[in-house]
Amino acid sequence: MSSLPEAFLANSHVSAFSHTSQPAGWQRELAQAIRSGEELLRRLGLNPADLQTQQLLETAGIQLADPETLRRFPVLVPENFLARMTPGNLRDPLLRQVLPLAHESHSVEGFVPDAVGDLEARRTAGVLQKYAGRVLLIASSACAIHCRYCFRRDYPYAEEPRRLQDWQPALDEIAGDSSITEVIFSGGDPLMLNDARLQTLCCAIDQIPHVERIRFHTRMPIVLPSRVTTELIAMLTGFRAQPIMVVHANHGNEIAGDCVHALRTLVRSGIPVLNQAVLLAGVNDNLDALEALCRRLINLGVMPYYLHQLDRVSGTAHFEANRELGLQLMQQLAARLPGYAVPRFVQEIPGQPNKTAL
Ligand SMILES: *Cc1c(COP(=O)(O)O)cnc(C)c1O
Ligand code: SF4
Repeated sequence: MSSLPEAFLANSHVSAFSHTSQPAGWQRELAQAIRSGEELLRRLGLNPADLQTQQLLETAGIQLADPETLRRFPVLVPENFLARMTPGNLRDPLLRQVLPLAHESHSVEGFVPDAVGDLEARRTAGVLQKYAGRVLLIASSACAIHCRYCFRRDYPYAEEPRRLQDWQPALDEIAGDSSITEVIFSGGDPLMLNDARLQTLCCAIDQIPHVERIRFHTRMPIVLPSRVTTELIAMLTGFRAQPIMVVHANHGNEIAGDCVHALRTLVRSGIPVLNQAVLLAGVNDNLDALEALCRRLINLGVMPYYLHQLDRVSGTAHFEANRELGLQLMQQLAARLPGYAVPRFVQEIPGQPNKTAL
């Protein structure tokens, strides 16, 4: 039986680990992240208060999101990610992923809060299951960046376990079902948990004999590379179960700067690292962008895994690329790259036994 150490349970009246010592480097960086659209533009040399910038924004059809939208899903961009954008370029593919637009409050037919059927798939608190053999844990509600196209932007995170002892029912559920051979740490971003919490939760899962693999779905090695520390690698490579990491980059420009080092460190530690991307209008819906992304990934030993057709979540319609265009791009991509460098173009259709190949 897997259970959390007594010490954590004994402290149940305090938020576990709230009193841990020093914040780590990545936590300090996060505290300094950019938290408004205006600030984001200013940092790229585009002051929304000056007339010339206003004209530029108007020509580009850019109007920032309203306060209500921003209250529900605020801006969050680490400096390290900002550093990979080109100053003055309103079409920058990294900026486009994080700049909150007025379009987000437009309701568009077919775009709904839970497009992928997450709520239907909730098996117990913190645990989603859609596919045979693997369950997904909503291990953290937080992320190191807020991607404006996020498919879980409306997820009811408040109902999921926070304190460590709240995970006990989930652990019991997994321990009681020997058909579960893989546990996927997701969220939010599971690496937003500090090392102590992550270690505790992972070790509890690792003690369940039928769990063969522990997978992490995380964008942090891409957007906040300082999260990939020696301590983290030691933890991930110390489990009985096989660790697998699936990172999330959408454009080749993301695979630059410190991110290159973080990915190389992960790959060289022996952890299989895969990438999933989302096909996004105005970001990567062209052949050159997709080719550059895949090449930069494989040159670091990171295998392109999935290219997702956008999930039709409310507020994200302006990111949707035509499916036919996606299919055409995939064909052209396959003609340019080695077979292993071509991701699978998939869509998540609720009720299907796996992600559907397009
Ligand atoms: C996408 C997803 C998975 C992982 O699917 P794979 O095809 O194994 O990568 C697992 N569980 C849920 C709920 C998912 O949405
Ligand atoms: S990192 Fe993932 S879960 Fe977090 S905002 Fe981006 S897409 Fe959503």
